[in-house]
Amino acid sequence: KPIYERSNAFRMVNSGGKIPLGIKRKGLRIVVTGGAGFVGSHLVDRLIARGDSVIVVDNFFTGRKENVMHHFGNPRFELIRHDVVEPLLLEVDQIYHLACPASPVHYKFNPVKTIKTNVVGTLNMLGLAKRVGARFLLTSTSEVYGDPLQHPQVETYWGNVNPIGVRSCYDEGKRTAETLTMDYHRGAGVEVRIARIFNTYGPRMCIDDGRVVSNFVAQALRKEALTVYGDGKQTRSFQYVSDLVEGLMRLMEGEHVGPFNLGNPGEFTMLELAKVVQETIDPDAKIEYRPNTEDDPHKRKPDITRAKDLLGWEPKVDLRKGLPLMVTDFRERIFGDHKDGPG
Ligand code: NAD
Ligand code: UDP
Ligand code: UDP
Repeated sequence: KPIYERSNAFRMVNSGGKIPLGIKRKGLRIVVTGGAGFVGSHLVDRLIARGDSVIVVDNFFTGRKENVMHHFGNPRFELIRHDVVEPLLLEVDQIYHLACPASPVHYKFNPVKTIKTNVVGTLNMLGLAKRVGARFLLTSTSEVYGDPLQHPQVETYWGNVNPIGVRSCYDEGKRTAETLTMDYHRGAGVEVRIARIFNTYGPRMCIDDGRVVSNFVAQALRKEALTVYGDGKQTRSFQYVSDLVEGLMRLMEGEHVGPFNLGNPGEFTMLELAKVVQETIDPDAKIEYRPNTEDDPHKRKPDITRAKDLLGWEPKVDLRKGLPLMVTDFRERIFGDHKDGPG
């Protein structure tokens, strides 16, 4: 569809309500904050492939140029090194706001910065959305449910979050980001979308980011023991990245604000996950127990009824299908071209 049928932004910014004659655009102009990161870079691939113009805004805290450099030279792609905590002026139709470290190791590294990114960064991107009339999508998290007392988690559940714990910079940061998003929607009429993302894995994850899937895969490939924290009976539900990206785009293009859980309901204990990693990479991989981290949620599994009903979305790639795709990427990055050991 031409842009003037799909977007308020073009109307408001460029013509005060009228499309100037002779100006036609094929795709949308889309900002992806955090677009050099794991999820963001996969989203950018899909948007570019669809014909949109994409501006990635990233401070490279956990993102990498390597994730997007295959788009360098494409006139529909721009990369801006910018911290969303600082204001930013752009003219765009849609904003996918992903900028925020996602691994517990990364977001605990500088917790005050994590809060600022979630609160001030989200405020700035909402201010931008308001100024240009862009549609804004927030990537929130299943962490807003904290250590949940309801299982599986439904969007109507308000959560069980420790406001003063070591994970609060992220949990409470995202909760505030959701609040800001809804207040800009109600108060300023900004078109918004909220996704609550559950644990996602896939190619391009940071190899040493401390998340369980990246840890286990890297450990098994390097012939190290898999580090299981606590008793390994805590659960998570793991979603392959292409399923998430499909969900995010459906949410953005659809008519519903949300929040929507986007996750794969397949639930695994960490010991079960270790077993799948053993089966996929190395049946002889050892398991080593380590003390668990503070405030670790005991279980997590999305109820995705809402996304199924309203977005027509559900994940397609289960763990046993998705893990090998990630292993190929990790193997190449860890060992270079050599498949059987560091060169
Ligand atoms: P990631 O760390 O790979 O990507 C985050 C990106 O944001 C990186 O490129 C990083 O450099 C950038 N960034 C961080 N702070 C910034 C700042 N202040 N200004 C500009 N850029 C900044 O993580 P990801 O897994 O791709 O996560 C993307 C989003 O999805 C995050 O908002 C995260 O909270 C959310 N999410 C992810 C998961 C998951 O399992 N991957 C689960 C729930 C929510
Ligand atoms: N902002 C931005 N880009 C814009 C418009 C606003 O970064 O294009 C920032 C702005 O600097 C402010 C925040 O977004 O800090 C909120 O903007 P808003 O206009 O909603 O509030 P105000 O500026 O009135 O506080
Ligand atoms: N975990 C583990 N071994 C690791 C890393 C993490 O057993 O090497 C556990 C961690 O204690 C948590 C779960 O795996 O219970 C998921 O942790 P992750 O950091 O991947 O994401 P979270 O869902 O906690 O944000």
